[in-house]
Amino acid sequence: MHVALVEAGPDRRGVLANCTAAGMVAALVPRKNASNYGFATTAQAGLKQRSDFHPLGRGLGGGGAINSLMYLRGHRSDYDDWAAMGNPGWSYADVLPYFTKAENNQTHHDAFHGDAGPVWWKSCALTTPTTASSNRPAKRRACPSTLDFNGATQEGYNSVQVMMKGGERFHTGKAHINPPSGRAPEPDADDRHALTARSCSRGKRAVGVRCHGGQRQAPSPGGARSL
Ligand SMILES: Cc1cc2nc3c(=O)[nH]c(=O)nc-3n(C[C@H](O)[C@H](O)[C@H](O)COP(=O)(O)OP(=O)(O)OC[C@H]3O[C@@H](n4cnc5c(N)ncnc54)[C@H](O)[C@@H]3O)c2cc1C
Repeated sequence: MHVALVEAGPDRRGVLANCTAAGMVAALVPRKNASNYGFATTAQAGLKQRSDFHPLGRGLGGGGAINSLMYLRGHRSDYDDWAAMGNPGWSYADVLPYFTKAENNQTHHDAFHGDAGPVWWKSCALTTPTTASSNRPAKRRACPSTLDFNGATQEGYNSVQVMMKGGERFHTGKAHINPPSGRAPEPDADDRHALTARSCSRGKRAVGVRCHGGQRQAPSPGGARSL
């Protein structure tokens, strides 16, 4: 199989891509920049017709390079509902092997998790006055705590699981395109700063994409880029 990657934004490296806090802070400054489309919503009736800032990641890693790092799957009942609605292959039991295959999880070692995949995450070990005060009301109301939001019991409170490696932000761009291990890049063709305008098809088969600037690019059998 050949894979081509087309990305409108830059390849983010350096402090914004690595520092767990800096990416978040940059995302919440209500302004668009190279790493954030910085959209505004339409006027919202519930906000007295004000529009709100809507950050959206741009560049390698997409939203994962500016988000809050929380690693949280959907609830198992969501997947089971999808399957029950007539979508074979979407039950929790069906999708769980794909979650575990993707994970390189550093905390939990059981049937719900994997530790050999490309996506690194761990339970957040941080205990701060903020986490203590947000846990207090849950304790007072006798809410159950859970050690693993992605495990056997998804409901409960506790510190979140985060996509981090070695104390640094870890996103899909790092997992698949710029792996820290130095593994060869996975896509056969890779174009940053390229905005896809439309896909091109031959009959019913998609054969490429047309990017802004008029470049047509498709994966080639030899793995080299063909334009
Ligand atoms: C501030 C913030 C905090 C968040 N916090 C969390 C969190 O803690 N936990 C969590 O699970 N989720 C969080 N999210 C949401 C999460 O980041 C997104 O749901 C996730 O990144 C979506 O992944 P995606 O691959 O669908 O799309 P994206 O990550 O949005 O990736 C799409 C990519 O495609 C590129 N692209 C789009 N159109 C084109 C085009 N025409 N041509 C070329 N390239 C194009 C974009 O530039 C972008 O890089 C947060 C999001 C934000 C913005």
